[in-house]
Amino acid sequence: MQHKTDIIVIGAGPVGLFAIFELGLLNLQCHVVDNLNKIGGQCTELYPEKPIFDIPSRPRVSAQELVDNLLEQAKPFNPIFHLNQQAEKLERKEDKLWYLTTSDNITICAKCIVIAAGAGSFVPRKLPIENINEFENISVFYSIKDKSLFKNKKVLIAGGGDSALDWTNDLFSMSEITLIHRRKEFRAAPESVSKMLELEQKKKINFIIGQIHSIKGNLGKISEIEYKRDDKIYSLQTDFLLPFYGLKMELGPIAKWGLNLEENRIKVDTEKFETSVPSIFAIGDINTYPGKLKLILSGFHESALMAQKCFYYCYPDKKNIFRYTTSSKDLHKKLGI
Ligand code: FAD
Repeated sequence: MQHKTDIIVIGAGPVGLFAIFELGLLNLQCHVVDNLNKIGGQCTELYPEKPIFDIPSRPRVSAQELVDNLLEQAKPFNPIFHLNQQAEKLERKEDKLWYLTTSDNITICAKCIVIAAGAGSFVPRKLPIENINEFENISVFYSIKDKSLFKNKKVLIAGGGDSALDWTNDLFSMSEITLIHRRKEFRAAPESVSKMLELEQKKKINFIIGQIHSIKGNLGKISEIEYKRDDKIYSLQTDFLLPFYGLKMELGPIAKWGLNLEENRIKVDTEKFETSVPSIFAIGDINTYPGKLKLILSGFHESALMAQKCFYYCYPDKKNIFRYTTSSKDLHKKLGI
């Protein structure tokens, strides 16, 4: 599938969201790619309930409320989101457009790229088992896109956090579920833990204490899992393994795009937040320049200046007239006021 737009924003964190708004004011349409399955970046993934106190004019706002408001603010500009997929490959073709391909094989072409990738992609923590790659996406999954795959199958869920317990409590009615965790204390929400323990008591799921030691199988299909408890090895038959050990952040494919990097962050100028490659910009936590503060408000400022230069790339023959949102009739029309 191929899409065409003015700007591709990589990252749907708070800074990527505000960038959509600033670009929209200048008539620039955005497609946004994020490898999380939800919008909001660190705010939504790491601290949705926590109050933030240093957003201008918001004495106290929860991280999730901030994201919800930024999304509402961006809505008049109809951004198209491509979630649950990583921005993988970036090439510039003879037509002078950028072609970005995602991990779901979607290609988007645009005049400018805006990298708002924070500390990088949120990616699943993997099991430290040598041959695990052989089984990934065949019988080992780190997230669930289509749960019908597990119907009437033996499924081993590993972990003690929210994802592990939520999926245990969800899938038990259609699959034969075993939950494995290294101890009987869990990080998940107390209601999920109580529900899981109730299911265990009613023998609707199995719970075992232990750590996965090895995977056996052929052509990506698991036949048996070995797990370790008190220095003894036990084996268990399963069709699928779902390791839910949380997420970590890593720069990922962006590191290979030939940009000027300094300690895994992208160097930019402070006039337009452009990288060493013309028409590729980096804003928010991902960029670095003298005096950079990794704060949401810094990313907001960077978005506004970046958008001015993007306008120039998209409309080289037009003059950008500076206008206030309070008084410009044209901007009111765009905002649906
Ligand atoms: P992020 O929020 O990190 O979003 C980047 C997004 O890009 C992610 O969703 C990621 O999945 C995606 N991504 C990355 N690479 C790719 C790729 N290749 N393909 C697809 N998607 C990709 N800041 C404040 O200003 N005030 C505070 O009080 C404050 N408190 C904080 C408290 C905590 C606990 C934490 C962890 C941070 C706090 N911060 C605070 C920092 C603030 O959250 C960050 O500055 C902000 O989230 C940066 O926004 P961003 O949009 O640049 O990046």
